[in-house]
Amino acid sequence: AVFQRIDAVEEKVKSYITQTRETALSQAEAVDAKIARGEKISPLAGIPGAIKDNMCTKGIKTTCASKILTDFIPPYNATVIEKLANEDTVMVGKANMDEFAMGGSTENSGFFVSRNPWDLARVPGGSSGGSAAAVAAGEAIWALGSDTGGSIRQPSAYCGLVGIKPTYGRVSRYGLVAFASSLDQIGSITRDVTDCALVLNAIAGHDPKDSTAIKADVPDYTQALVNDIKGLKIGLPKEYFVAGMDPEVEKAVYKAIDQMVACGAEYQEVSMPHTQYALSAYYLIAPAEASSNLARYDGVGFGYRGEGNDIVSMYKRTRSEGFGREVKRRIMLGTYALSSGYYDAYYLKALKVRTLVKQDFDKAFEKVDVLITPTAPTQAFKIGEKADDPLAMYLQDVCTIPVNLAGVPGISVPCGFANGLPVGMQIIGKPLDEMTVIRTAYAFE
Ligand code: GLN
Repeated sequence: AVFQRIDAVEEKVKSYITQTRETALSQAEAVDAKIARGEKISPLAGIPGAIKDNMCTKGIKTTCASKILTDFIPPYNATVIEKLANEDTVMVGKANMDEFAMGGSTENSGFFVSRNPWDLARVPGGSSGGSAAAVAAGEAIWALGSDTGGSIRQPSAYCGLVGIKPTYGRVSRYGLVAFASSLDQIGSITRDVTDCALVLNAIAGHDPKDSTAIKADVPDYTQALVNDIKGLKIGLPKEYFVAGMDPEVEKAVYKAIDQMVACGAEYQEVSMPHTQYALSAYYLIAPAEASSNLARYDGVGFGYRGEGNDIVSMYKRTRSEGFGREVKRRIMLGTYALSSGYYDAYYLKALKVRTLVKQDFDKAFEKVDVLITPTAPTQAFKIGEKADDPLAMYLQDVCTIPVNLAGVPGISVPCGFANGLPVGMQIIGKPLDEMTVIRTAYAFE
């Protein structure tokens, strides 16, 4: 059924960089064989999903939507891919994204733009836009995305889906091509909260191959699928309702809060005074880390190699021709912020701001169990609308970025519909408390 759906809509939606039909069929046949032998199977067995193209898949192209990795075939699997294989899931393809996950619309893909299935003239969001478009269009039942500043939650909001960014370290990053290592986290994009719990069960957990993966037991997230939020303390941080917020989005989120209060939740306003500095800090820290992580694309070890008579001109050609505009912009911002003489003024200062943002969360969580905000200030925008204005694009992440800076879990759930497009609400939880985040999302759903 998923293949039929891909045949019917992929030409318009353009979710996939690579389709992996043969792999999918052999994985599906293996599940059939297990069933025929009467073996017990996982709830995810045989269920087709899409993988963002920045997660390494052995023997299958992994491009990060970049020309520099057009023909890169990893010799190993990311840990999440191994874990999903252990559950006998089926991989239908590698999903489009903004190049190296830098962006919020898939317009920065080095190959093509994906489209929002609710309105093909609009973006599906990003950077995990191909993953979200695939699930929203029925071209996959679930998908994996990565989220450095909102890249799972924002496209989920734009496409009417459930997207979770777990606590930093909850899911192994081994085999995820690094963008900003202290912020990157893998999570799922699904149609509902039940599927979210099932996929998170499959991918969460410590991994000796990732030194930042947290050594903590993984609960069974399906235990959070109870319809009960009586007495749950929800906080609304007033600083998140910024200028430029679409009134339809604001209305939908307030209505959702009313519904949660009607279900027995207790509501209070909280203040998180450093929110206004989070975006600026992120756009120093993320590019700084990216400039270092992307130094490895030099045309020597792997990936695209430009022509050149000597090694320096080869490096130059490789990187000039291989990287797109946004990636170059980030590398320049990052190397500037890290250079001697500027390091203290920019990078170090941004790290201090990051600590203050984190402390805002610590203080808020002394009073409340979860925080509620819009996922993004607007609904899905038109393709091309913000393409020439990086600052307008960066502003789409004001509500999601602080969550990555603090390392806490956040989910986006659909909370309304306006102008024919979905609206997303963000639920943020305490570190490692995905259970409460999922319980809140499920009760609201
Ligand atoms: N849109 C943000 C950026 O461009 C976040 C991207 C992400 O989460 N990968 O950096």
